[in-house]
Amino acid sequence: MDINFECTMCGKCCQNLKLPLSVDEALAWLERGGDVQFLCEAVPWPDEPPADNLQAQHKRRRSFAASSGELPVRVVVVLAASFDGPCPNLQANMSCAVYEQRPTVCRIYPAEINPFIELKPEQKECPPEAWTPDKPLLMSGLRVVDATTYELIAKSRAADVSDALTKARACLDLGIDAAALANEGLVVYSPPGALTIAALKRARDSGDASEDGLQWKVVSNRRETVDTLTSIGAAGVHYVKTDAPAFDYLGFFPASP
Ligand code: SF4
Ligand code: SF4
Repeated sequence: MDINFECTMCGKCCQNLKLPLSVDEALAWLERGGDVQFLCEAVPWPDEPPADNLQAQHKRRRSFAASSGELPVRVVVVLAASFDGPCPNLQANMSCAVYEQRPTVCRIYPAEINPFIELKPEQKECPPEAWTPDKPLLMSGLRVVDATTYELIAKSRAADVSDALTKARACLDLGIDAAALANEGLVVYSPPGALTIAALKRARDSGDASEDGLQWKVVSNRRETVDTLTSIGAAGVHYVKTDAPAFDYLGFFPASP
């Protein structure tokens, strides 16, 4: 199926977001006064997957190795510009105040960055008139046809890979060491902007140093998950909301006590 698309500048996709950013984009966002959070998840990784397991290889490339107790894991950290309501850069006429410097993900939308997620126009914010057949061709089947979007997706995936160890070092620097069990939720850290800028710069400028022996806790809001993690030697943590949490937890399932 072909998908045609042209942005109508309606501004609907610029509201209530956690926008994934590269390290360089996160620094730029913070230096403009915006907020950046760390969204953390951990994937149990007892064995290396075969080369033809493309989904696992995709996850491997954008993550870093760590342990949770005795359990090998891979940790995915996403730096996200976070805002409720309109983006701080969205102007009254629905144009972007930082259009020339806007993050890559803003340029890619509504296409999908994850190669395993199919673009479904009905799940996007764009109005029907953005998708009519007279608009430029964006997708043919599962293939991105628009050359600019194709290049931007490749750039975004490359940054995910090259930033993974930088994010590992920044987390170590900031004392970030808890991640949600993948597919159950996300652990969200919101360190102060100035501290985040300093940690990201130190991490980025420390070159190719790898991080060995990282220890991470694996968090869930479901008691049965934590019990299972603990039974296999992982450092499982049961998330219970408190008044002054070290981190927040966005659960995909109802909590169990
Ligand atoms: S940076 Fe610009 S394009 Fe991106 S969400 Fe904000 S207003 Fe929209
Ligand atoms: S929701 Fe779609 S049509 Fe509206 S501004 Fe965003 S990309 Fe453009």
